[in-house]
Amino acid sequence: MAHGEPEQLGARLDEESARTLPPAEELASRFPRTGEVTPLSEQQWQQCMSDLKFGSQFSEHMAAATWTPQAGWHDLQIKPYGPLSVSPAASVLHYGQEIFEGMKAYRHADGSVWTFRPGYNAARFNDSADRMAMPRMDPEDFVASLVALVRADQRWVPTEPGTALYLRPFMFASEGFLGVRSAHEFTYLVIASPVGPYFTNGFAPVSIWVTRKYHRAGPGGTGAAKTGGNYASSLLPQAEASERGFEQVCFLDAATAQNLEELGGMNVFVVGRDGRIRTPKLTGTILAGGTRSAILTLLREDGYDVSEETIPLEELVADIQSGKVQEMFACGTAAVVAPIGRLGSEEFDLHLPSTTVTTKIYERLTAIQNGTAEDTHGWMYRIL
Ligand SMILES: *Cc1c(COP(=O)(O)O)cnc(C)c1O
Repeated sequence: MAHGEPEQLGARLDEESARTLPPAEELASRFPRTGEVTPLSEQQWQQCMSDLKFGSQFSEHMAAATWTPQAGWHDLQIKPYGPLSVSPAASVLHYGQEIFEGMKAYRHADGSVWTFRPGYNAARFNDSADRMAMPRMDPEDFVASLVALVRADQRWVPTEPGTALYLRPFMFASEGFLGVRSAHEFTYLVIASPVGPYFTNGFAPVSIWVTRKYHRAGPGGTGAAKTGGNYASSLLPQAEASERGFEQVCFLDAATAQNLEELGGMNVFVVGRDGRIRTPKLTGTILAGGTRSAILTLLREDGYDVSEETIPLEELVADIQSGKVQEMFACGTAAVVAPIGRLGSEEFDLHLPSTTVTTKIYERLTAIQNGTAEDTHGWMYRIL
């Protein structure tokens, strides 16, 4: 199957995500419950919910489905969360054929539970599947898996402001076969993890190391797919950045090593003092973040001059040194929006003092997600 043009990816995902989904009530029954969990006691559950470190606690169920060439997707179900049994020859373990998504379920003040643009993630999941030669999934089934899991584990959606139930849909090649080709069996799962606010002391600016030594993706590679391999290749650069006292790594494009791309798992924005806001354009090596897309829309609505363009590092460094750029931020579902306070490399160590636009966009977006501001874009989908 031919893969789409990278320049059109953002627009295509926005368009596909705008399609109307059936109400959650209708979708939930596509993933019936099988098996019995031994429920945690109230005390054990409270223990879990009081330690909301990112990705460390998991709810009691998981959604599951299997794909084979003969049967397509089948055995859709919600089952007890627990260890898997996989063939040691499963091709994911050898060749890394795997994709994933990251989303959140938010509890609103009235007790209802919502998620943000599930159609966007469903469309991106299929785009990643195409690139990794994996089967597509009906977007309604994808959303149904989230709905059914959150409904089964509704007590795991935390209530405190800034908390959410993080949802991790993923698919991997589970066929036991060492030949190098796309697998003939795939497993789809969704697990859920209650998470607290990413920043414990509010809005702590992050420090970013710009690496020239490593790249996360190259032209024609898998940079636009949400696949584990991109993360695997970012771990050593991440560890080296940590050793230097920086929290995250920023990658440059592999072809010229001159232009800003993104962090290991977050997109970046540059805010000019003149009000111009820029983010690297989607070239096929950058992940098309849903948070990036929503922020572009909100900033344009607020009257900012926003563009997706090539951002040469040399020019950015000069602009920060001259004070033309005093603010940058990173964004993604897990952290939402993070101010970048320091940008370093072998050649420079720069400080970015401002967080004005970053704070504004963070508040604007989280107000929609938490249900305290009107959702004029139809981004929120009610699960419960
Ligand atoms: C998931 C991800 C993002 C952020 O995407 P969101 O849809 O905003 O969560 C950015 N970059 C990379 C490499 C990612 O994997």
